[in-house]
Amino acid sequence: MIARLLYSGIHMATDQRPATNDAFPALDILALAAHRDDVEQTCGGALLKMAERGHRTGILDLTQGEMGTRGTAEDRASEAAEAARILKVTWRQALDIPDGRVENTWENRLKVARVIRELRPRVLILPYWEGRHPDHYTASILGYEASFLAGLSKLPITDHAPPPSGIKSFYDYGSVGVAPHRPFKIIYASLYRDVRPTFVVDITDQFETRFASLMAYKSQFTDQEAGSGIFPARAEIRARIESMARFYGMLGGVTYAEPFVHKEVGLVDDLLTIPVKSI
Ligand SMILES: [Zn+2]
Repeated sequence: MIARLLYSGIHMATDQRPATNDAFPALDILALAAHRDDVEQTCGGALLKMAERGHRTGILDLTQGEMGTRGTAEDRASEAAEAARILKVTWRQALDIPDGRVENTWENRLKVARVIRELRPRVLILPYWEGRHPDHYTASILGYEASFLAGLSKLPITDHAPPPSGIKSFYDYGSVGVAPHRPFKIIYASLYRDVRPTFVVDITDQFETRFASLMAYKSQFTDQEAGSGIFPARAEIRARIESMARFYGMLGGVTYAEPFVHKEVGLVDDLLTIPVKSI
């Protein structure tokens, strides 16, 4: 089953790619996460905002959710597709890395590097590099090291399986994208971790839609018996999500925001346009 789902990419109606075998146009922003619904919780508002500005966005989930207490990997695939539609992403796929066993191996780095070469994002959003869940912080390191590999011109990355017939994949759009590529900018979505963000993105206008994308994971977030001791009810989830967004919004002087960290210093051209009031 996992093999069948491996390249079951989601291609949204908003995608403007030609139906021919032309090269896949580069993504502007790719968000990578360990699990389906991580992006919706940590940076879905920012992704939606960028899509609304006309940028091409994508989501790479490393795992398919087969270890989830509720629902199956198939349930999560259809829910992820719906969430992607709500967030207006151009591209979304899940790799076949085992859920609960995201490891920073050479093989996994090559899988991610392949996707980075194919999609050629300018901005890569990774999970923050520390956290409670090993899959989350391992995905961060894995994503960074895969980005490095993806830029090595002498490293051929060809060991991927072709997509099963009948399932459209971005591989159908030509092989131009296998050329070396590194994202220009890597930023870290830090909402899962209690750290002070380097910057926040105002998602006041996107908050409700972003919440709707999370609720698309019906198998995870509807009130039901299975696993009810682990998963809070919808009203509680709403309160938590809103509280976090309001907290980070307050730091930026807006209503709702999502937090990010980057490792580089900020570069300022005009001192008069620096946002966020000091006093
Ligand atoms: Zn997760």
